Amino acid sequence: MSDTTTEIALDLEAKRLSVRKPEERYDVQGTMSDEQRVQKVMENFAKDFGHVAATYMEACIHCGACAHACPFYEASGGDPRLTPIWKIEPFKQAYKREAGPLAFFYKAFNLKPKVTVDELKEWQELLYDTCTMCGRCTLICPMSIDIAALVGMARHGMFHAGLVPHELYMVTEKAEREGSPLGATPQVFEDRIEWMGDEHEVEMHVDEDQADVLVLMSSIEIQKYPESMAATAKILNAMGKSWTFHTEGYEATNFGMLSGNLEWQRDMSMKIIQTAENIGAKLVILPECGHAYQALRWQGANMYGKPLPFQVQHISEFLADAVESGALKLKKLDKTVAFHDPCQISRRGGATPAPRKVLEALGVDLKESESGGDMNICCGGGGGVITIHRADTLRYKVMGAKFRQLDATGAEMMVTSCSNCRQNFDDSGEKLNWGKEMNSLLELVADNLEEAKQ
Ligand code: SF4
Ligand code: SF4
Repeated sequence: MSDTTTEIALDLEAKRLSVRKPEERYDVQGTMSDEQRVQKVMENFAKDFGHVAATYMEACIHCGACAHACPFYEASGGDPRLTPIWKIEPFKQAYKREAGPLAFFYKAFNLKPKVTVDELKEWQELLYDTCTMCGRCTLICPMSIDIAALVGMARHGMFHAGLVPHELYMVTEKAEREGSPLGATPQVFEDRIEWMGDEHEVEMHVDEDQADVLVLMSSIEIQKYPESMAATAKILNAMGKSWTFHTEGYEATNFGMLSGNLEWQRDMSMKIIQTAENIGAKLVILPECGHAYQALRWQGANMYGKPLPFQVQHISEFLADAVESGALKLKKLDKTVAFHDPCQISRRGGATPAPRKVLEALGVDLKESESGGDMNICCGGGGGVITIHRADTLRYKVMGAKFRQLDATGAEMMVTSCSNCRQNFDDSGEKLNWGKEMNSLLELVADNLEEAKQ
């Protein structure tokens, strides 16, 4: 029985992105029978069994090495259910029964029974609450199995069966209906741009008919960290760029990708792609949001069906190029800094050197944390996990490990380049009395501009 309603309010006052009173609701959508749900899962799992997924499924040698790479497994004290490869077990079972080389025998002798709804409900927690799709397990796996990608595929089946955690479903539905998961409608976006322009006395560009650079924002930035808008404008103006925000395509967050709804994912990406095409943009700059980076930079062309007609850069990459070319000069900061690598931008996205180049240009003394860089431990809030309230206990434990690593550097200042990580640091910092503030790399640059030239 579905209890989803479009009238459930978002909690805009909370530090984290979520809905109010989530505990009263079920995590099932639609009115399908249990049998229909299983069928939908199987059908949609089967759709994703391309040769890549099949190779991964066949390649696992069950060595268990991935377990200790997973921050959720570690934070749970070694719960075997949280071993990365176990999280995709229903997907594996479905593959073996429906598409693997021995599928005929498995089916004929019922050697791999179909999964049940109760099992799928149990796996909902493993696929959504305890995996941020951070990809750390893949770096450890001797067979390089991309569990994060398989978890993403398994979520497609769960979505079609109406088995998405309630809060994640609600913010996704809101994003599709209103254009933004946090209620940052085009009008709200425009109002906030005007507000930030006035407050920071910076010239804003909105809805230009033509511009070389289209700048996107995530709803977390629009609603919780609006200074990001002013910071980006300040930097682009200082560089003399032809740029614009655009109310037709501005929301970089893609909850279609996180919930498992490919159609919504495509719709959200296409809004941006079409806007960039309409204004003749040569470059689209993604904001400080890790999943936005994955959605457009690495999956955007798949959504579009051909190569994107423009370059896509995360803001940290854009800043790194700007300081390297000398187009942006920064004042020196006399501080020790620890940097938290957002996994979708760094490990999964390859932009690990970019923030370090920017920090070097700022002249800081960078104190690398244990397993910093590509092997960084995830903050525990990505992949939609921060929206799910029942995941809070373990999420805070994951962040506890993160805090200990950052504290051990002895650095004076904490910096990151993902607003989703930043809200998780804010929320968890308050809960765990961390006593430190997580700063934005972008805002640090904007606050320390010295001079700029083309
Ligand atoms: S992708 Fe990250 S969170 Fe998910 S199973 Fe692997 S290590 Fe754990
Ligand atoms: S590390 Fe790789 S091969 Fe070993 S159990 Fe995990 S997924 Fe399988």
